[in-house]
Amino acid sequence: MDYIGHVIRPPSEAYSMIIQVTVGCSHNMCTFCGTYKDQKFRIKDIETIKRDIDEASRYRFDRVFLADGDVLILPTETLLEIIAYIKKKNRHIERIGVYANTKAILKKTVEELKELNRAGIGILYQGIETGNKVILRRIKKGAFPHRMMEAAGKVKEAGILLSQTVLLGIGGVEMSRQHAEDTGRLLGEMSPDYASALTVMLLPNTELFRDWRSGAFRLPDKFGLLEELRIIIQNMDVKNPCLFTSNHASNYLPLRATLPEQKEEILSLLDRVLKARDETILKPEHLRAL
Ligand code: SF4
Repeated sequence: MDYIGHVIRPPSEAYSMIIQVTVGCSHNMCTFCGTYKDQKFRIKDIETIKRDIDEASRYRFDRVFLADGDVLILPTETLLEIIAYIKKKNRHIERIGVYANTKAILKKTVEELKELNRAGIGILYQGIETGNKVILRRIKKGAFPHRMMEAAGKVKEAGILLSQTVLLGIGGVEMSRQHAEDTGRLLGEMSPDYASALTVMLLPNTELFRDWRSGAFRLPDKFGLLEELRIIIQNMDVKNPCLFTSNHASNYLPLRATLPEQKEEILSLLDRVLKARDETILKPEHLRAL
């Protein structure tokens, strides 16, 4: 397979065939993200992509994830051509997923999104990180809450499953509470099908790392991060069932709950953990990863 650079995928795509159709991320500005810092964004040529699909098709798989960051930025016709080729070679494919940033979603019309859904795109992964405007500006996310809301609405209208991620610790100690409250409220308003919390990892090739080293950014401690998780869940008043997880490798405490049904249950579990402040039940630092 023609994998270039660091190819990542969401935890829920662990058993999917990964076809890399872009290299890097079209935005590549977020201050905390070091994944594609050494890659100039480009769309791979269609012949290389088809060769990878041919090679992958020697095996049976039901789901496909199209990497790298922000594949939805591709022209709709190109995406449709890639999907059609995957399906021609693998008639039993159940679902195709991609990362999609807010700008890329907003560039598509609802009709285009519906067409992509009919073709096979079944889930979009949208990075939210925080619901707080000040922090979004600081981390150079390139999107604000009202635009994220608009994008989420389009995805849902098109009938595509929506999975959103937020980032514990991204507001630092200084904005920890505002970050958690605004993020919980925004997730509640958007009511995605899936929501996941990841935890900031300080990567040496990022602007956030340099801020941390200079003292300009301070990360909350482990229990401060779990307190954020608690506030996010508490403020998440979802309108539809949402599977909330914190089982990403970066987190100290893996959780999985369907909201709103299990909200009280998960909040009381977090209360017990926060009260006990027992580090031995948390993931050891050396096992954390991206
Ligand atoms: S977090 Fe996502 S949008 Fe931001 S630079 Fe990394 S891959 Fe790109």
